Amino acid sequence: MTDTSTSADTSPESSAVLAGETRPRVTRPASITEAFLRGLVARVPSSGAAPWPLTEVYTGEKLVDLPQSSPADIEEAFARAREAQRIWAAWPVRKRLRVFRTAHRLLLESTHTTADLIQAESGKNRRMAVEETCDPPMVISHYLKHARKLLAPTTRGGPVPLVSSSTEIRRPKGVVAIIAPWNFPFATGLSDAIPALMAGNAVVLKPDNKTALSPLHGVALLERAGLPKGLFQVVCGEGPDVGPTLIDNANYVMFTGSTATGRVIGERAGRNLIGCCLELGGKNPMIVLDDVEADEWVNGALFGVFGNTGQICMHIERIYLPDSRYDELKAAFVTATQALELGAAYDFGPDVGSLISPDHMARVYGHVEDAVAKGARVVTGGRARPDIGPAFFEPTILEGVTSDMACGVTETFGPVVALHRYRTVEEAIALANDTDYGLNASVWSSDVARAERVARRIEAGNVNVNDALATAYASKGTPSGGIKQSGVGARHGDQGLLKYTDVQNLAVLKKQVMGIRPGQDYDTYVEQMLSGLKMMRRFRIR
Ligand code: NAD
Repeated sequence: MTDTSTSADTSPESSAVLAGETRPRVTRPASITEAFLRGLVARVPSSGAAPWPLTEVYTGEKLVDLPQSSPADIEEAFARAREAQRIWAAWPVRKRLRVFRTAHRLLLESTHTTADLIQAESGKNRRMAVEETCDPPMVISHYLKHARKLLAPTTRGGPVPLVSSSTEIRRPKGVVAIIAPWNFPFATGLSDAIPALMAGNAVVLKPDNKTALSPLHGVALLERAGLPKGLFQVVCGEGPDVGPTLIDNANYVMFTGSTATGRVIGERAGRNLIGCCLELGGKNPMIVLDDVEADEWVNGALFGVFGNTGQICMHIERIYLPDSRYDELKAAFVTATQALELGAAYDFGPDVGSLISPDHMARVYGHVEDAVAKGARVVTGGRARPDIGPAFFEPTILEGVTSDMACGVTETFGPVVALHRYRTVEEAIALANDTDYGLNASVWSSDVARAERVARRIEAGNVNVNDALATAYASKGTPSGGIKQSGVGARHGDQGLLKYTDVQNLAVLKKQVMGIRPGQDYDTYVEQMLSGLKMMRRFRIR
């Protein structure tokens, strides 16, 4: 971001005027051929609805016509998935896991092609695209190690020692609907499906229309690894059109997206009495303590704020700096931000890529405009960059953001951050917690124990110490989810797999010993029962 002058009109409206002629040419990777893309979308069931033009974000050029699924197509997809699931669920867990061992290898071998697709459909930079490809293999590795134990029947004591037992049996739910967003289409499309499949379920995935290519490629790789055909269906359509049919046919819904849509999904799942996991938005704070090491923090903050062009659910939109070091830390962060290179390229050149679409850019720009109109100040950035591509927006730092501004309280989901000053750590914690969201937070200090003490007081499902977000998200053994308005349930960890199962409590009584014996009076029976309970407690039998 080398040019920061503010004289030109670079509002989204002016994009249309400036667009085109002056943009540098973007060389599309050789892997993205028409035949390859047509082959990918061929698996989407569609009985004739008009297709959706899926475009390359960097240029706005059409890549392929994406078939759209009608309610009848979706019902048919569920029927096929259900048939395949009956056979898959009967496979021993060990045999199911073998497929994922092969898939791990194929996914890694395909890293660059997958990253090409992710970049073309989302406009993110190369680093983020490649990092995204690593998520499903990481999830596979974790559950390959733990799935057998988690899914094995566990025998526990029954109510009467020696003669009774109870076994916890994990059964697949059936067909899981996964509704995925555009910001990490490959990761959210595949990584949430992996534990569901390992547990013996089928999956019907609905990716966002804009970003259906990389998940379709991932499903093809899983099938190449040995996943039975039909078990993993992909249907496409606009959310409100296809959502009801999806939820009404599913046994469980895994949703990642905005809080507003999550509420709609949760309501419908509730009416159908099926479970759902909702991974939603955030307004994530970062507290910087006064003993922070500036260089390390600046690097972490740059990624936390501008990584994936600010379109990471866990990214940082509010930074609280100590009064005593405000000017120094602000200056270092602004300088580093201004050095970021924005660009449209399929190589590792640009630090920051595009937003997902001109519509989304208009929304991000709207947040900045609204803040400025209400008294906030643009420290750097704040402009659309139609000279680079139709949805580019500069990394932006604001000051003076208050709770009457849209970006003060709601998620912007773009490369925009507000700097705030605090006097005491108590004040910083109170400000960080003053939000309806609770997805992620970050605390920085040279004294890890001090940072941890602050972190424990933050109301968020994830808190990273001396990192912005990646440490929590990449810790696949620990459940990761939002609290407050940021979600219900979690992915990763034991519950990231067990949520896709129902529990059967298989209880066995070897001999009828419970209840009153013939000829026994009730007083004696009650006395015996109570002394039995005392003994069991004393000898810690139950
Ligand atoms: P969105 O809610 O608009 O859409 C998400 C998905 O839901 C898309 O596939 C969309 O087509 C579908 N959808 C929309 N309306 C629907 C309906 N009525 N019924 C069924 N499906 C419907 O969200 P988005 O703009 O695509 O994604 C960005 C949001 O996702 C941000 O708020 C971000 O914070 C959140 N997100 C959260 C996480 C997390 O793990 N917590 C991860 C990634 C993104």
